[in-house]
Amino acid sequence: MIRDHTDIPGELKSPSLQFQAASDSVGLNWWHWDRISNKIRMSEGMMKLLGLVPRPEGYAPEDIYHNVHPEDVERNRVVLQQLYNGEDDLYEIEYRIKDSSGEWQWYYNRGSVVQKSETGDPLVIGGISMDISGQFKRLLSMVEEKEKFEFIVKHSNEAIVIIELLEDRAGVVLDANRAAMDLFKKGPEVFGKPLPDNILQDQVIGKGGVLMQEVFKKGFGRIEQKVVLDDGEELWLEFTLHAFTLTGENLMIAIIKDRTSGKKTEAALRETERLYQTVVEAADDRIGLFTADGAPLLLNSAFYESLGYTKEEFMQFDQNELTHPEDVKRLEEEGKKLYEKGFSSHEYRVRHKKGHYLDMSSKLVLIRGEEGEPELVLFIMRDITERKRTIMELEEAKTRAVESDNLKSAFLANMSHEIRTPMNSIVGFSNLLKNSDLDEKLRGLYVNRIVTNSELLLALISDIIDLAKIESGQLAIITGRLKVSELIKEMEEYAREELIRLRREKLEIEMVLKLKASEMETDVIRIAQVLKNLINNAIKFTDTGKVEIGCVKGEADQSVRFYVRDTGIGISQEHIELIFDQFRQIDGSNTRKFGGTGLGLAICKNLVRLMGGKIWAESKPGKGSLFQVELPLKQSPSGPPQSERKRIQEREWTGQKISILAVDDEPDSLELYSALLTQMGHQVRVAETGYEALRLLDQYPLPDLVLMDVTMPVMSGTDTMKLIRERYPEIRVVAQSAHALSGDRDRFLGEGYDDYLPKPFTAAELEKVLLNLTTR
Ligand code: ADP
Repeated sequence: MIRDHTDIPGELKSPSLQFQAASDSVGLNWWHWDRISNKIRMSEGMMKLLGLVPRPEGYAPEDIYHNVHPEDVERNRVVLQQLYNGEDDLYEIEYRIKDSSGEWQWYYNRGSVVQKSETGDPLVIGGISMDISGQFKRLLSMVEEKEKFEFIVKHSNEAIVIIELLEDRAGVVLDANRAAMDLFKKGPEVFGKPLPDNILQDQVIGKGGVLMQEVFKKGFGRIEQKVVLDDGEELWLEFTLHAFTLTGENLMIAIIKDRTSGKKTEAALRETERLYQTVVEAADDRIGLFTADGAPLLLNSAFYESLGYTKEEFMQFDQNELTHPEDVKRLEEEGKKLYEKGFSSHEYRVRHKKGHYLDMSSKLVLIRGEEGEPELVLFIMRDITERKRTIMELEEAKTRAVESDNLKSAFLANMSHEIRTPMNSIVGFSNLLKNSDLDEKLRGLYVNRIVTNSELLLALISDIIDLAKIESGQLAIITGRLKVSELIKEMEEYAREELIRLRREKLEIEMVLKLKASEMETDVIRIAQVLKNLINNAIKFTDTGKVEIGCVKGEADQSVRFYVRDTGIGISQEHIELIFDQFRQIDGSNTRKFGGTGLGLAICKNLVRLMGGKIWAESKPGKGSLFQVELPLKQSPSGPPQSERKRIQEREWTGQKISILAVDDEPDSLELYSALLTQMGHQVRVAETGYEALRLLDQYPLPDLVLMDVTMPVMSGTDTMKLIRERYPEIRVVAQSAHALSGDRDRFLGEGYDDYLPKPFTAAELEKVLLNLTTR
């Protein structure tokens, strides 16, 4: 800077040609004003600039403003005059000069006193003039830009901090807008100070810091950081830094976005997602999420584990390969509804790894994208195999219950018929007997009818009681020794009686006995009961041909097989299993035609089962049936060792006549016993109470046997029996009771009775008991 006039080179006072050429070439113009001549001389370039006709002797001061902007002329003249007058020794001015194209250009003019008089007055003043238009414009625009920039920063909603980049480190805060101050909770005290370390650390923003490297490479850099404010508040901030230069300074602008709530939402989302995943994973249902074209996005482990596969194994399959072939087509059809309705649900079978099929109930939900296009498919599948089975079982049980109900109703109707028919005969013929004019033959016939029908009635009641015992588990099998030949003989007799009773005289009866063993151990009463039932059915359902009753070696070792074969109506295949069910008759009209209640075979099946054997039937409708019973030769060791029945059968009736006291509170029963026993040749006395019985025993010769009704009012049969035992231990006491239930016999014997007769009993049964006791 030229501050002293002595600094003005001599060249300016009287420039040489070389100086002039040099100054022209760099666009530097010079001038000087000589006070003595009052002329202003200037460089050639300057003359041109001012639009002056070249005049080497110089110009008058007022001539030089020809091209100067009118607004600048006066200002120029004043400062120049001041310098000329010696009021100032330096002047600087910027002014506009019109160029050749008529545009105003800015010039910088600078001058000083070049030579002074001895008195110190200026003699020569001089200076230079420079074209500064371009520079000036730049400066102006720079000022404008800075203002604009500051305006934007100030009013931006984004937090913005301007940081100066220093040589050694980045980081003096030059400026920050309101938003930034609020965000960081800081005031203007931070301006001019290094960026606080808790906002951006040196390793990030310092020289060579990660962010700075990025900024230098790309012009900008971005980083997300957790910032802990002075008051402890935690913020997640995203810093975007741009490097730029403004009015010659290297600056950085940091735009800061608060991502804290976003981060929190993100974390909450991640947590929700984790929760959902846990829930989905824990579900027993198969859950899957697929893209619209079927690619799996998410599968819970139940999805493949429920089918016995690992995920890798499962992924090898196409869904259709695991679907039951019969369900594939329907599934595809129904699958189309998904795109129409947005959801679909169906049931189908899926193959397990082990090969069996599982029943599945599935729900599909279509999830659409923002434009409504199918985007995802949610797939929820539940294993309903168990449920289906339960429903099926329940339905079956219901059908069975309804059937059993119907059967029971039919049974009641049958039963009513079965009871009324013999009762009708009994009542009818009994009334006929009242007629005293009846001849002996007719009387005998009527009595016979009454007896036969009573026995039928009794058999029916026995059946019902047997079934009740079986159902309540009270039917006990009493094992004894049985001579097979005797049983066969007894069965033949029975069959022949039945032929007559059922009026099938033309039927042939054939007996077969092909068994090495002559004896077997079983419940002799029950086996006879079973065979009688089969024989009765065979005769009942056969009109012509024959009934064969046989006993052969059984299939299994140590077993025996009884069979009854007929040439009757036969049984269809569908009924053959059913006839062993309770109350079951193939044709409800059977009862009317053939009689029967449908209980017989059910009892047989249970009895045979209790005896450790099996019973089954083979038949051809119209050709006949074969019923077979297979029993072990030897009963398993449970049950009483010997049946009373055996001993009776093995002995012959000796015909010994005894004296008997019959005790019963029912006068009718007493009358019956009296008649029966007297007929058999025994001596009978009767008593209606326990007291009376004791009195009779006291007063009369002692009887051989007392037939005692167990249930009597005041003094029970058992109490009476106990007194008799004490007083007259030699007398046999036989219990008789209508409580014909299993276990009664054991109970009575245990109480001290010698034997037991369930009511009603036939004369034959009474005889057998008497025989047993008198021959003991
Ligand atoms: P009930 O003979 O008292 O009706 P069962 O239980 O003994 O009862 O027999 C059930 C049904 O089985 C009979 O009603 C009959 O329809 C059929 N059934 C039994 N045995 C024969 C047979 N030998 N031939 C043809 N059908 C028979």
